[in-house]
Amino acid sequence: MSRKKTKPQSDEIIFLGTGGARYVIAKQLRATGGIFFRLGGKNVLVDPGPGSYLRLLSYLPEFNAEKIDAIILSHKHIDHSADINVYLDVMTKGGFNKNGILLAPRDAFGAGGVIFNYLLDFLNQIIYIKEGLEFKIGELRFTFPIRHQHRVETYGFKLYYKNTTVSYITDTKYFPELIDVYQADIMIINLIKLEPSEIDHLAVPECAEIIKSIKPRVAIITHFGMTMLRAGPWNIARALKKKTGITVLAAEDGKHYELNKLLSY
Ligand SMILES: [Zn+2]
Repeated sequence: MSRKKTKPQSDEIIFLGTGGARYVIAKQLRATGGIFFRLGGKNVLVDPGPGSYLRLLSYLPEFNAEKIDAIILSHKHIDHSADINVYLDVMTKGGFNKNGILLAPRDAFGAGGVIFNYLLDFLNQIIYIKEGLEFKIGELRFTFPIRHQHRVETYGFKLYYKNTTVSYITDTKYFPELIDVYQADIMIINLIKLEPSEIDHLAVPECAEIIKSIKPRVAIITHFGMTMLRAGPWNIARALKKKTGITVLAAEDGKHYELNKLLSY
C-alpha cells in the first residue's frame, strides 16, 4: 500500500494583483486582485480588487477558496474591494456553510459601504478595524496601528509570525508616524505613482524616505498606477535600492514570494 505524503504548505505571500488606480483597473494592465498570505497553515486574503477571484483560480489552481480563513479589507475603494462579495459567497458556499472572518473598516458596511448585508450572516465573525485593533488567528497576529490619511477610512497592518514581522502600508498620504508604527523585516508598500502630486497616495520620494528610515530586510512595492508602469516598476525598485541601500522588489502578478527567501535578503 502506498502512502501519499502531503507536503506541508510553505509560508508564502502571493500577489493576486499589483495594479491600482483607475486606468490600470480599466485596462487590466496589471491584475488588481490583492495579496494572499499563506502563513502558518492559515490563508488570509487582503484587498481583493476587481478580478481577484479569477486571478486566485488561475494563479493557485489547486487551492480551494472555501479554505480562506479571513479576509482583510484595508479600505473600501474599488481597487481593493470589488470582489469581496464574491469571496464571501464562495467561502460560505452561498450561506450553506457558516465560515470565515471578515475584517474591514466600519464605513465599508451598510449604506455607502461595499459589503452586501445579507452575506454578513454567513460569516463566523465580523471585526470592525479601528486604530489599535489586534487580531490573532493561529500563529498569526495582526495589529492595525494607525488610521491612514486617505479619502475613506483606511488601515494598514503589521503582521507578527514566529520571529518575523511583515508590514502592509496600504494607500495613504505620507505622514511621519508611518515610520514609527510600521517597523518590520518585510515591508509591502502601495506605491501608486511617481510624483507626489496627488494628496492621498505615496509617491517615490516618500516611499524612499519610509524605506530608508525603517530599514527592513526587504521592501516590496506594489499597487502600481499608470505613471509607475510607464517608468517600469523594476527601474523604480532599482532606483529605490540605490537611494536607500535596502533591497527593493517590484511585485509581479501571480508571483509566489516564499517567506524564507524574503528573509534571506
Ligand atoms: Zn484607496
